[in-house]
Amino acid sequence: MSVTKSGQMNALRKMRAGAGLSFESAPVPAIGPTDVLVRVTAASICGTDLHIYGWDRWSQGRIKPPVTLGHEFSGIVESVGEEVTAVKAGDKVSAEMHLNCGHCHQCRLGEAHICQNLRIIGIDRDGAFAELVKIPASNIWKLDPAIPEHYGAILDPLGNAVHTVLAGEIAGKTVLVTGCGPIGLMSIVVAKACGSSTVFATEINPQRRAMARKMGADVVLDPSSGNAAKQILADTSNTGVDVLLEMSGNPTAIQQGFAALRAGGRASLLGIPTESVPLDLVNDVIFKGATVQGIYGRRMYGTWVQMTALLKAGRLNLEPLFGERTSLEKFEDAFKLLRGGLAGKILMYPDGVPH
Ligand code: NAD
Ligand code: ZN
Repeated sequence: MSVTKSGQMNALRKMRAGAGLSFESAPVPAIGPTDVLVRVTAASICGTDLHIYGWDRWSQGRIKPPVTLGHEFSGIVESVGEEVTAVKAGDKVSAEMHLNCGHCHQCRLGEAHICQNLRIIGIDRDGAFAELVKIPASNIWKLDPAIPEHYGAILDPLGNAVHTVLAGEIAGKTVLVTGCGPIGLMSIVVAKACGSSTVFATEINPQRRAMARKMGADVVLDPSSGNAAKQILADTSNTGVDVLLEMSGNPTAIQQGFAALRAGGRASLLGIPTESVPLDLVNDVIFKGATVQGIYGRRMYGTWVQMTALLKAGRLNLEPLFGERTSLEKFEDAFKLLRGGLAGKILMYPDGVPH
């Protein structure tokens, strides 16, 4: 479809309450003076997109159809509003898709990632599973020329990993990553690149355990046996790991993670449980003197600076993560593969061809 002539473009949208998505013709977004219109060259599917596709309880409360999905992407600036000076047409970009209000208490404190009025492009308003996406200039991230397009498309989840790993000291530390989905796998690579010593990883899915080994985890364990924490204690002279990076959201994984954490250790929790999680606060947190951190999104924009520096220095080899590449139109195949528990990131191309 010729975008500019018709004023219409192709987009992957949630049109009504209920399961599924549809490949639709949608109007090209109109941009204001401080917006940037980006031609999406590659987009990647996040676990959240699967939840929205399946129309789970969270999606039912949050998503207001019709809306175009997609919050992981890279692209080329098509045009800019008259007040935009940070980028120009032709620049390669990605974007922080969390929109902060700029005036709430946390925003004023420089903690925009936990803004009280956070909205997300691709969830609360039209996103990047389309030929073109509108992004406020404040949220555009100009890609360093050293960063390839496919890496540009996964900076959102990679930023989650970088934020979590670097939320405390990591060099020389023993680390446990619980859950080896895409973000857990990226965390293994980031932790290794930042000088962690032994990286343990737990994962229930055998394919993802194989992937964890490929991505550099030193000890990969199947937690189903219930002995993972015991083995980690044994391997650390009955001390436990210095750092827990919780990347599953699974209650059992969280409990096992705390059991394997050493006294004085750091637990950084990114995984999102769908239910309340019983914790032994006395033994696992208080008597341990543990530091527990909730991690949300990416620091704006400290995480983006760190992530770019690591990528530019060639420290993060994420190639094993990239699986299928498909056109936006063939999204059903991609979603089916991901629902089947494939660990990798699937890239979708609005114009149907990898660049
Ligand atoms: P994912 O669902 O692909 O990965 C989770 C992994 O945990 C899966 O591979 C699963 O098999 C594994 N797992 C389940 N039970 C386990 C157990 N008992 N022990 C070990 N592993 C177990 O998700 P993802 O895209 O990699 O994201 C990781 C988590 O982070 C998810 O919970 C996601 O919702 C959450 N998330 C949080 C933020 C944030 O800002 N806090 C942002 C993005 C994603
Ligand atoms: Zn705010």
